[in-house]
Amino acid sequence: PKTIFSGIQPTGVPHLGNYLGALRQWAKLQDTAEADTTLLYSLVDLHAITIRQNPKQLRQWKKESLAMLLAIGLDPKRSVIFHQSAVPAHAELMWILSCQASTGYLGRMTQWKDKTANEKDGSEKLKLGLFSYPVLQAADILVHRATHVPVGHDQAQHLEFARQIANGFNETYGRHVLTPPETLVSPAKRIMSLTEPDKKMSKSHSNPKSRILLTDPDDVIRSKIKSAVTDSYEGITYEPERRPGVSNLLDIFYHSGEAVETSSQDELAKHMQGLSLRALKEEVAMAVTNVIRPIRERYESLVHDQAALDAVAEKGAQKAVRSAAATMVEVKSAVGLM
Ligand code: ATP
Ligand code: MG
Repeated sequence: PKTIFSGIQPTGVPHLGNYLGALRQWAKLQDTAEADTTLLYSLVDLHAITIRQNPKQLRQWKKESLAMLLAIGLDPKRSVIFHQSAVPAHAELMWILSCQASTGYLGRMTQWKDKTANEKDGSEKLKLGLFSYPVLQAADILVHRATHVPVGHDQAQHLEFARQIANGFNETYGRHVLTPPETLVSPAKRIMSLTEPDKKMSKSHSNPKSRILLTDPDDVIRSKIKSAVTDSYEGITYEPERRPGVSNLLDIFYHSGEAVETSSQDELAKHMQGLSLRALKEEVAMAVTNVIRPIRERYESLVHDQAALDAVAEKGAQKAVRSAAATMVEVKSAVGLM
């Protein structure tokens, strides 16, 4: 049977890139899963603190992110929804895997470089936790024996690392304890920033206009798309290298599923050929508001019910603790810790 695991950092309200690149897949996988498939979705708060967080803000984001997972269609009766730090085995397995992880390999990964480059204060030094982020992520996946991990494109190299560390562990200890996971990259694998279309849309980017939040009202969505950076080339074409801004709008339109029946972004661009950039933006804004509106409305009805959210988190944590415990017994016994 399959086990699906994925996570999102409670580092802000999820944005359109998170939705099209990950969260929408999570809900789809849940709704189409076979009866014996296990699904686990985590708010990875231990990952969130690899960047300095304000404690009060983090608490708030944890609660909001949980409400958002319900708003995008996760059903706590079907999917195990939990805060990572409520399941200590994630951190425990991370330590054991750290004793296996090569610093050379970690040093070649790009996320810690991107995240320290974004730091406005250049004197901020690279922290060990940010550097070893992929080891914790591997532990998240492996501790639940996940077979499939739905993520956006930026996480593909971390998944490759998780497979290598699982295989390395099994080889070292001469038995099959950890399951190397398969990556499920969503079709909308990389939605770009609206203000710097050569970078991916991110929760933590400093410019709020760079992303569309799943809580943005229609008029805010329209104005963010209207001011999205494009170019001054003639017409509408899909050329991600030469025209990243326009191509990103076409990607967003295409994946928002409102477009005329087209089989590719290229074909979509041909359909839209006669439009001005301004008209294209209006079409895109319409499609995006239609995707986000029902999510926002569900979110608003859920986010203030603290008791209900606490109950979901509590139930999820109990199930996730049990799922992880089984793996930890085998891991510890393989290593000789018990
Ligand atoms: P942060 O800036 O805090 O890292 P983030 O926007 O990158 O936030 P994460 O919580 O790190 O969000 O990632 C959650 C999921 O969303 C991952 O599966 C990731 O691959 C996916 N994702 C993030 N940004 C995008 C994007 N721009 N396009 C498609 N998928 C994305
Ligand atoms: Mg990220």
